[in-house]
Amino acid sequence: MTEPYYSFNSYLRGQFSGRVRRISLDAGFSCPNLDGTLSQTGCIFCNNKAFGVNAGNKATIETQIKDSIRFYGEKQGVDKFVAYFQSFTNTYAPVAELKKKFDTIRKFPQIKGLFISTRPDCVDEEKIEFISRYAKDYLVWIEYGLQATNNRILESINRKHTYEDFLRALELTRKYSINTAAHMIIGLPGAAYEDIIKDARNLAGRDIQGIKFHILSVFRGTKLEELYNAGKINLLSEKDYVKIICDYLEIISPGTVILRLLSNADPEYLIAPLWVNDKARVLDAIKAEFAKRCTRQGSKNRKMKDER
Ligand code: SF4
Repeated sequence: MTEPYYSFNSYLRGQFSGRVRRISLDAGFSCPNLDGTLSQTGCIFCNNKAFGVNAGNKATIETQIKDSIRFYGEKQGVDKFVAYFQSFTNTYAPVAELKKKFDTIRKFPQIKGLFISTRPDCVDEEKIEFISRYAKDYLVWIEYGLQATNNRILESINRKHTYEDFLRALELTRKYSINTAAHMIIGLPGAAYEDIIKDARNLAGRDIQGIKFHILSVFRGTKLEELYNAGKINLLSEKDYVKIICDYLEIISPGTVILRLLSNADPEYLIAPLWVNDKARVLDAIKAEFAKRCTRQGSKNRKMKDER
């Protein structure tokens, strides 16, 4: 049976022959929402150490890449990689600094792609034009942390940017034909089912090439942990997530790459919900739900106007 959604793996298979691994990197960037520029507290869910394999790794970018290539090469026989600048805000520096960091990938012929995760309020034309130059040699993507399209919800999670910031960044990024993805969180506090479906509808008609999903999870040392311990937030159950994500995927375009459907987390930092780490079971449940409905990604997709 073919997958009922356009998975990142099948996208990569279409781009390259053989297996490709994503190498998560901590390139030593900071974030304006943590360094006091916008706030010192950050997004209420933020604990970068819980997000990526190399998060908090103080080794050089070169060492992180070298170690990962060795590890995946020996363990899985993989010889093609995508460098994923994941931790914090990976365009939060002048272009000269970006060049120094991103150019590290040029030392490794095994690296075929450059993926950059950032905030939508941390790009400008100079940076985007600069990043677009890598497309000559690499598969290039920029992933914007959007999380929700409702500004009330963005404010309540202390994002310190708006949906309009994302739309501006999207326009600029597409002007330079860079693949663009939105990172969305499902189950944010204050987001009712209708809000989540509105997010799907708002993204459905946009010129985006990918969506990466994150299930709201409580990590140690975050504001969200305090709210969770005080009984002030509800987390999605596995059953609810399966239903919501199928509803969501039916709405978005069938050509949008699902960069990630399930976000697991380092058990050292994860407080709840624990089911997110049972990836295989949840993926099977999503596939079974689609099979039951006889639908798939894009089944209900049509061009839609933003809903507010
Ligand atoms: S923008 Fe990213 S790195 Fe910055 S506080 Fe929010 S989640 Fe953390």
